[in-house]
Amino acid sequence: MPVKKTPSDKNSKVPAEAQKRAGKLRETIRYHDKKYYDEAQPEVSDFEYDRLYRELKDLEEEYPPLRTKDSPTQKVSESTGKHFKTVSHRVPMLSLDNTYSLEELQEFDERVRKGLGGEKYQYVCELKIDGVSIELVYLKGQLTHAITRGDGEKGDDVLENVKSIPGIPSKLKGSVPDRLEIRGEVFFTRKDFEAINEEREEAELPLFANPRNTAAGTLKTIDPAEAAKKPLHILLYYVFSPGRLPFETQEDSLEWLGKMGFPEDEHYRLCKTIDQVHAYCEEYQAKRGKIGFDCDGVVLKINDFAQRQKLGETSKIPRWAIAFKFAAQKAETILKDISLQVGRTGAITPVAELEPVLLEGTTVSRATLHNEDEIKRKDLRIGDKVLVEKGGLVIPKVLQSFADKRTGKEKVFKMPSTCPVCGSKLEREEDEAAWRCGNVACEAQVERRIQHFGGRDAMDIRGAGPAIVKQLLDGKLIKDYADLYALKQSDVADLERKAEKSAQNLISQIEDSKGRTLGRLLFALGIRHVGVHVAEILATRYKDIWAVGEASEDELSAIDGIGPIVSHSIVAFFANAANVKILKKLEKSGLNLKRLKEEEPSGEQPFAGKTFVFTGELKGYTRPEAEGLVKKLGAKAAGSVSKLTSYVVAGEAAGSKLKKAKELGVEVLTEDQFNNLIKKYK
Ligand code: NAD
Repeated sequence: MPVKKTPSDKNSKVPAEAQKRAGKLRETIRYHDKKYYDEAQPEVSDFEYDRLYRELKDLEEEYPPLRTKDSPTQKVSESTGKHFKTVSHRVPMLSLDNTYSLEELQEFDERVRKGLGGEKYQYVCELKIDGVSIELVYLKGQLTHAITRGDGEKGDDVLENVKSIPGIPSKLKGSVPDRLEIRGEVFFTRKDFEAINEEREEAELPLFANPRNTAAGTLKTIDPAEAAKKPLHILLYYVFSPGRLPFETQEDSLEWLGKMGFPEDEHYRLCKTIDQVHAYCEEYQAKRGKIGFDCDGVVLKINDFAQRQKLGETSKIPRWAIAFKFAAQKAETILKDISLQVGRTGAITPVAELEPVLLEGTTVSRATLHNEDEIKRKDLRIGDKVLVEKGGLVIPKVLQSFADKRTGKEKVFKMPSTCPVCGSKLEREEDEAAWRCGNVACEAQVERRIQHFGGRDAMDIRGAGPAIVKQLLDGKLIKDYADLYALKQSDVADLERKAEKSAQNLISQIEDSKGRTLGRLLFALGIRHVGVHVAEILATRYKDIWAVGEASEDELSAIDGIGPIVSHSIVAFFANAANVKILKKLEKSGLNLKRLKEEEPSGEQPFAGKTFVFTGELKGYTRPEAEGLVKKLGAKAAGSVSKLTSYVVAGEAAGSKLKKAKELGVEVLTEDQFNNLIKKYK
C-alpha cells in the first residue's frame, strides 16, 4: 500500500527555518492585506509590503513545496460580499507582477522575447494609476454591473456608487458585442483628496491616509447618496473582445474607448524597444508629482492582443504585462558598517555601508556620512535601523537613526587614529571637519588624484574611469597622472575587459587632452582649495603654469576671488619638488601649460549672470571648447539643467537634458542659433 504523504513529508526537503519564515511571512502579509483591502487603513508602506511579498516569493521559488494554494502569492486578497452582491468576472481580474528596478524590466523583456519566439512586438506604456480597479459590464450596450476586483474570480457589484462618477456612458452607441467588459481605475485627484481632508479637519473627523484608500472606502459606501458627494474619477484602460470589436491592439483599444466617450488617460505611449520603455519610466518618475493624481508606477503591456494570448498568464498575473513601480524616495534599512574613504587631498570620509535597499529604482548600499561630527550629531551607530533618502538623482544620504528600535547590540563608531590605507597618523586641523592622511604618497590619494585629473571638469579623459585607473595602477603601468601620457595602446589593450577599440579610444582621448586650457589643467592638478572657478581666475591672470608657480602669497591674495587660504595652498603646491617634477614630465609629454587665446581676459562680458548647458553632439566645437567660449563671455557653463539655466544648447542626439529643459521651460538653442547668439562677440 502506498504511503500517504503528510504535509511534513511533502516539506521534508525544506529546512525548518525556511518553513517557519514562510509561515510568518504568509501571516504578516495576510494581516496587511486585510488592513489595506478591507479596512483601507494600511500600517506599512507599499515598499515595505512589497519587500515582504518578494521575500516570500523568493522562498517559494527556492522551495516549491512552500507554495501553498492559499499563499498570498497565489491569489488576489480583497474580500467580498459583506454589503454588496457578489458577481463573478467572466475573465479573471488579475493582479500585476511588479518590480522597482529597471534591470528587472530588462529581464521581463527577455522573457517576452523568448515567449514570442522571435516575433516582433511592441509595448504600450501607461501610468499606473494608484486607485481601485473596477470592471464595468455592458449587456446589450447597457451598463448593468460595476464589479470590484475582489479575489480576482468574483467581486462586489458597486454599480450604484459608480453611476455618479462623471464620464461613464450608461448606454453604448453603435454596434457592440452583447456582453462587454471594460476595466479601469477609480481614484481621487490630489486636489479633491486634499479638499475632502480639509473638510474633515474642520469637522474634527480623523483624516484619510491617502487618495487610494479613500477611493476604496468610497466605492464601498453603503449609501450611494453619500458616495455621490465625493468627486470620484475614473480612467479606463482595458477592453478586450477578440474578433468582435474593430481593433486588435492596446493602442487602438484606447483610441476606441475615447471615441465611445470613456475617459482614458492621455499619458500612454507606444514603445518599440525596452530602451524607450526605460525612458518613459524615467520621464514619469520625474514628473509624477505634476500629474494631478497619484500614480505609483508605469504599466507596460504587450500591444498586440494575439501575442498576449500566446504569452498567457499564471493564476495571479499576466505574462504579457508588468508594473514598474516608482520606489519610495525614503526607505528604512540597516547601517551594517561604517567604512572610510581616503580622498585625493587625504581627507577621510566615513561611508555608510547599508543593507541594500531600493530607492527611486536603484539599489542603494552606500551613502556618504560626510565626517565624524555628522555621525555624532545624528547619533548613528553600527547596527542601527536608519532612514535613507535619495536626494534628487544623486547621492543617497542617511537622514536619521531610530534610537527606539535599538536592541543594545549597536556599536558607537570610533574614528581610528591612522589612515586605513597607508597607516599614517591621521590629523585634524582646527576649524576643519575632516580628518586627513598627511602622506601624499598614500596609494588611495594617488588613485583619487589620477581619477580627478581625468574628470569631466578637469582634463576630460572620458575613458579613464575609476576601474581603468585602478587597473593601470595595479598593473604598475602608471604611478602618477603624468604617466598617462606615456601609455601605449598595447599597454592598455592588455588590461582586463579592454577591447582593442576602447584601448584605441582611451589613447586618443589622452592625446586630445594635451590641448586643454590652462584653467582646466590648474583644476586637474588637484591643488587644495583650487576649484574650477579659482582655476579659471588664475588662468586669465597668468600666461602659463610656471608664472602661477612664481607668484607669491601676497600677489595671489590680491586677486579678486582668491583669499589667503587658497594663496597659501597654491604656493605650497609649487614649493613641493615632487609636484614640479610631475609638471616637467607633463611639459615633456607635450601637454599645453599655457593660457589659450580663449582664456585671455576679455573686456566684454555680454553673458554675465547667464548659465549655459551643452548637450548632445556639437558639430563645430568639442564640449570643453564650447564651455570655454561662453565662460569667456561672462557666462557659467553647467553640467545639469535646472530652473536657473538660461540656455540649453542641444546638439545631435541630445537626450535627457533636452527633455528636462523642455519640462522646465528653459530656452533651447540649436547649434546654429547658438552661433548666431554669440557671433558678434567671437
Ligand atoms: P498592484 O497595485 O501592484 O497592480 C495591479 C493593479 O494596478 C491593477 O489591479 C489595477 O487596478 C492597477 N492599475 C492602475 N493603472 C493601471 C493600468 N494602466 N493598467 C493596468 N492596471 C492598472 O497590484 P494589486 O494586486 O492591486 O496590489 C498589490 C499592491 O498593493 C502591492 O504590490 C502593494 O504595493 C500594495 N499593497 C500594500 C499593502 C500595504 O499594507 N501597504 C497591502 C496590500 C497591498
